[in-house]
Amino acid sequence: MDELTPLAIPFDNSYARLPARFYARLEPTPVRAPRLVAINGALAAELGIDPATLASPAGLLALSGNRPPPGAEPLAQAYAGHQFGGWSPQLGDGRAILLGEIEDNKGRRRDIQLKGSGPTPYSRMGDGRAPLGPVLREYIVSEAMHALGVPTTRALAAIATGEPVLRQEGPLPGGVLTRIAASHIRVGTFQFFAARHDEEGLRLLAEHCIARHYPGAEGAAGLLRAVIAAQAKLIARWMSLGFIHGVMNTDNMSISGETIDYGPCAFMEGFDPAQKFSFIDEGGRYAYGNQPGIGQWNLSRLAVALIPLLGESEEEAVEAAKDALGAYPALYDAEWRARLSEKTGVEDDGALGARLLGLMAEARADFTLTFRHLAEAAEGNEAPLRALFPDAALDQWLTDWRAAPGERNAAALRAANPLYIPRNHLVEEAIEAGYRGDYAPFEALNAVLARPFEAQEGRERFALPAQPGEAVARTFCGT
Ligand code: AMP
Ligand code: MG
Repeated sequence: MDELTPLAIPFDNSYARLPARFYARLEPTPVRAPRLVAINGALAAELGIDPATLASPAGLLALSGNRPPPGAEPLAQAYAGHQFGGWSPQLGDGRAILLGEIEDNKGRRRDIQLKGSGPTPYSRMGDGRAPLGPVLREYIVSEAMHALGVPTTRALAAIATGEPVLRQEGPLPGGVLTRIAASHIRVGTFQFFAARHDEEGLRLLAEHCIARHYPGAEGAAGLLRAVIAAQAKLIARWMSLGFIHGVMNTDNMSISGETIDYGPCAFMEGFDPAQKFSFIDEGGRYAYGNQPGIGQWNLSRLAVALIPLLGESEEEAVEAAKDALGAYPALYDAEWRARLSEKTGVEDDGALGARLLGLMAEARADFTLTFRHLAEAAEGNEAPLRALFPDAALDQWLTDWRAAPGERNAAALRAANPLYIPRNHLVEEAIEAGYRGDYAPFEALNAVLARPFEAQEGRERFALPAQPGEAVARTFCGT
């Protein structure tokens, strides 16, 4: 396929059919010298797109935004949001452009979006661009999350733009990520219309979301309940992996229940519930242990936004909102306990898991390896697990664990507890090499993380926590 044969993508753009005030139509801004960094062949196949065409000259033109493929209707979505608790009535895609939607091979509607593709009417002071580093980070971490079984947006491709992006650190090579999502509709999208008292917009958006994400949901109340359930489940999954999103603003919380907007995100190593990474999160609002509560707070913002649709009278609407929100703690708890039970291999009322987490926090034991080594302990080899804790610290817990009802099946434990997560120092290493034009570490890391539950020969180093001097204390938004 040559440059003149455009990509054939069967777009069907339902968001673009919503009223004009939902978005701004515009073309991506072309870049000087696009070069392919990565194509996600498996995901391309899932989308019914031939990976070879993506890697062709026409593919590169499409993925860089230089020439959107036929059928694309590029637009930037409008939204609002609470950022670190503070209200912003006007945000929107400041550096992302939705090309359109396609149906995948399972009949699911998916967004194709370029992130870092130039300024939009919502860019405010921003340049609409992304440095290559954050593009690589989102690629690595979102694909790792998918392999770990967590609902997430996906990475279809990464390109280098050949143009520098100016940031605090100085000029950095630019990049564009092609992101795939069930949709990019956020809590903040509803807030956008609610803040404008645009009841019609709110209703159309709710109908769109129901049809697209929760076809069984009845009305706005049903939609709210469905989003609450999806988010409770999602956040419990994050917690069960030691994942810290880093910027759980309402504009970064998706209606579909996928993890979205990987910025200063990170996986925890030594367990500390107060752990945060984002340097912009000074107060620790989005620290690991706060995530379930922040989730609930964000969902209450969604409920407030939906009030005009929730009842005939305001009292009725408020009651419906309270009712839906009231279910969150129990939904979260049930999911968290189920995850913990799976991770420990015993039937658990939460107490045994909670005690282990307490011991882990005292010892700052590696989150991932502690759970992973339960599999060896189940086979009679307690040494790797005990090595993460001070002498005798686990004596009583291990005794109680062995006595608890449950299977403690080593294979099941290995299937529930990953060996490999995107450790921060490995991600940083891949990014630094990427900046030098060496994508081998990025590729090697992705290959390991594609099979996170399987011990891979010769890949031992990818399972290890950062050694002293390698530890990454803060991650950067890189906006
Ligand atoms: P985030 O919290 O990183 O998801 O971004 C918050 C808001 O800032 C969103 O509206 C983004 O589109 C916008 N934004 C972030 N970085 C840039 C940038 N470099 N140029 C323009 N807008 C940006
Ligand atoms: Mg965002």
